[in-house]
Amino acid sequence: MKQALAATALLCIAQLSSAAATEPAVPQSVIYVIGDGMGMEYITAYRHFADDPTTDELEDTLFDRYFVGTSATHPHEHGLVTDSAAGATALSAGIKTYNGAIAVDVDKRPVETLLERAKKLGYSTGMVSTSQINHATPASFAAHVDSRQKYDDIADQYLDNRIDGKPWVDVLIGGGEQYFKRDNRDLVAGFTALGYHYADDFASLDSIEKAPALALLAPKGLPFAIDQPPANRLAVMTAKALALLPKNKPFFLLVEASEIDWCGHANDIACAMAEMRDAEETLKVVGNYVAGHRDTVMVMTADHSTGGLSMGANGEYEWRASVVRGVTASANELARQLKDAGSDWQQTWLELTGIALTSEQYNTIARQVKASRRASTETEKNAAKTELRATLLSAIDRASVTGWTTSGHTGGDVPVFAAGVNAEQFAGHQDNTAIAQKLFTRLHPVQ
Ligand code: MG
Ligand code: ZN
Repeated sequence: MKQALAATALLCIAQLSSAAATEPAVPQSVIYVIGDGMGMEYITAYRHFADDPTTDELEDTLFDRYFVGTSATHPHEHGLVTDSAAGATALSAGIKTYNGAIAVDVDKRPVETLLERAKKLGYSTGMVSTSQINHATPASFAAHVDSRQKYDDIADQYLDNRIDGKPWVDVLIGGGEQYFKRDNRDLVAGFTALGYHYADDFASLDSIEKAPALALLAPKGLPFAIDQPPANRLAVMTAKALALLPKNKPFFLLVEASEIDWCGHANDIACAMAEMRDAEETLKVVGNYVAGHRDTVMVMTADHSTGGLSMGANGEYEWRASVVRGVTASANELARQLKDAGSDWQQTWLELTGIALTSEQYNTIARQVKASRRASTETEKNAAKTELRATLLSAIDRASVTGWTTSGHTGGDVPVFAAGVNAEQFAGHQDNTAIAQKLFTRLHPVQ
């Protein structure tokens, strides 16, 4: 009875004000989702991509439903364009730092992260990503390293960083097995010795019933969503992490839709939209969880945008989502399959993309398919594949009227989505560091 009254009172306080000062000192569970590279243009493009073409209206996506505001992304020292390490450190520790920094400041001193604080306060913790789990974004929550390139050091820290004798993260699900099973150190053996259940594929992940758990589902990053069945992607991994985290105390869960950024770097629109679908499915899992648990908050944002994606290009006032929907493989996979098909490549192209080619495109691709079959050394093969891939992507961009300005990141603001306790605290425009600072105010000692 007393508890019920207290809960009602807290609920009233939460509804009355969004100011941090009035936050009840009750520990909240936090689900923090980062769409790497997921700038605003990706949200808009995905709305058209996901549209039901049999109705007149343009349906809202889950991103539209949970949208609350925007975030600035610039790194430290008059920089404008951030990398994922500085971006994630802003989001994990609430400070600006230099590109490449993993939860260290400009003087390379460690800065406490949300996950680290949560663990110290007695929370359960989890991290899920489609990249290797020791890639820059998740790394910035559970390691302190002066360079994102030090993948082995980061993986080592996941085992060696301890609070009360236990690693910081109770549930780790992602790619990256090659960094954990090395000639000079077997971190998987280290984790299992501490009682972690281990899985190296989705079937064995499915059979794990209890935390702590470590799942490394690929040597490095997972294959792209567009080239995989949905069962082998982020939404399923996230649901599993939520199921595994103990429910007798609050938890902090980081989820990264890592490969939106990778498709963006590749300037591959169909690849990017498939990653966005996986991200939306993940948002569905997280949103449903938050709706059923009043003591939980969910925040989703991006670290930056990637590729300078534009809907419309070369003066054309048009973007053809239907063309993108018809492309069923990443450019990497298209190039591989066209090469394998040899002189039958055009049939394969039409089956996998449905895109009609101009005679100029046809001639170029025919020549490049031949060249990639003739290539003998590894260098020649890679060069031929790169050329073929570029031609295929330009055919997809031209047919869909998609534009790109860079193979790197861009400096625009990114969207913020939120649900659960006091979600309106994240409304409006804010700096990326403010998102972390607001989340810190929700972490309190677990009794
Ligand atoms: Mg990342
Ligand atoms: Zn990137």
